[in-house]
Amino acid sequence: MTSGKLNRRDLLTGAGTVAIALAAPALAEGAFGASLRFKSDPFTLGVASGEPASDGFVIWTRLAPEPFNGGGMPSKPINVHYEIATDAAFKIIVQSGDVVADHRAAHTVHVEVGGLGPSRDYHYRFIAGNARSPAGRARTLPAAGASAKQVRFGAVGCQRWEHGFFTAYRHLADEDFDFVFHSGDYIYEYGPMKKSTPKRPIVRTMPDGFKAARTLQDYRNRYALYKSDPDLQMAHASTAFIASFDDHEVANDWKGQFEEGKIEPSPSPAFLKRRSAALQAWYEHMPVRRTMRPRRSIIQSYRSFVIGRLMTLNILDTRQFRTGPACDGGWQACPDAANPKRSLLGAAQERWLYDQFANSTTRWNALAQQVLMMRLNRSKIADEIETHMDKWDGAVAGRDRLFRAALAARLPGLVTLTGDIHNNWAGDLKLDFADPASQTIGVEFVATSISAGGNGADTKKSFKRLQGLNPHIKFYNNQRGYVRHTVTPERWQADFRILETVSVRDAPIKTRISLVSNRKSPGIRKL
Ligand code: FE
Ligand code: CA
Repeated sequence: MTSGKLNRRDLLTGAGTVAIALAAPALAEGAFGASLRFKSDPFTLGVASGEPASDGFVIWTRLAPEPFNGGGMPSKPINVHYEIATDAAFKIIVQSGDVVADHRAAHTVHVEVGGLGPSRDYHYRFIAGNARSPAGRARTLPAAGASAKQVRFGAVGCQRWEHGFFTAYRHLADEDFDFVFHSGDYIYEYGPMKKSTPKRPIVRTMPDGFKAARTLQDYRNRYALYKSDPDLQMAHASTAFIASFDDHEVANDWKGQFEEGKIEPSPSPAFLKRRSAALQAWYEHMPVRRTMRPRRSIIQSYRSFVIGRLMTLNILDTRQFRTGPACDGGWQACPDAANPKRSLLGAAQERWLYDQFANSTTRWNALAQQVLMMRLNRSKIADEIETHMDKWDGAVAGRDRLFRAALAARLPGLVTLTGDIHNNWAGDLKLDFADPASQTIGVEFVATSISAGGNGADTKKSFKRLQGLNPHIKFYNNQRGYVRHTVTPERWQADFRILETVSVRDAPIKTRISLVSNRKSPGIRKL
């Protein structure tokens, strides 16, 4: 417990009346009548910030003295105090206030902090009764229209508890990032792994009673387990996260109203219920705005961040609104993937994105999203194209529409940031992937997983063959880590940060390769 000795009168000076009277297992009446005394630390899941803006950000925490068992809080709202300071010692507090940790949202707290200055660091913390949270740091974005000289941020995704330690996050916390983009698979919904093999060892096991997540309580406990990780907590405390979700926040390869392999028009009520529980738990545990809470079981998660005149970061949602799987999903030589009705974004999100393109005022325009955009053909038959239907290859016409909208808008600096496939990749986005001589309209950087897939290896035998079939692909690596992006007005640099192992703690990190692309002549090059 951070501050078990503090009493509530000390903590809440000047905060007005906060009447809390509780009698519940985790709580006891204190010496000051209405004061709240926790018997054990309620801030077991740390703190987080997100949604950076030029005047603020969201700060997040959850009260959960018994994190893996529903949280251990009474079914009542609890007042939580927060403080924003310009110094790490909290001597200069520039904002403070009270907010309710609602029991209907698992006693999570989402505070939208505004009125702060641009391009600077702030520190934040929470106080509930006699307990004080660890402090976090968040940085505001440059003001709109400011000529920002550089932005440095991380790209991460795919953190499977049992496959490895989250060591990459400990190193990420030292990077002094402006923010981090999370491409999803923040949790994996699966039940416990049954078998440990040399190639895929079970590095750590989930607590007793954890099974495949289906109910709201299951998903809450899963987020609590993942968020109990000290390396992940350090990363969250170090910088703001821009969160998106992929499939495993709900279930493997789901899309729209459908589970893996299920085809329209037969959504199952059981899956809709599961998706609704999963998305509710995602909202509760991510540092996102309250406008992103699920409404009619849908989360409005596509959105944009404008970083001065330097960069627009468009966050895409390739799960909720996509069409059903072409040719039943998976690897396929599938003519129907080219059907113009196929879309990974859905009509409304496509319209929004192409408006973003048309109205962009920034030098760079990034698409931060989930699944591989460049073509990945693995066919062993000449003149046949076999691609994966869960990626943009499963909606070729949608990809063409996007490229053509970017061209029509004369969009500068198109860069796609991707996750999902548990390897590092980099490649050129070609107007026609079948013709290596066709125009390169942007580049794609794919960030490997934090832990999913286990240790991996630098490369794989089949990569040379794949590169022969897909000459636009310039780099591949199959180790764990994150990508560090440094964006300046004319050049984008991606440093692929990797670990030799995630099956033991505290492995060192190194840069495997640094790749760059110029804004005016895009194309992946080695630094
Ligand atoms: Fe994954
Ligand atoms: Ca995924």
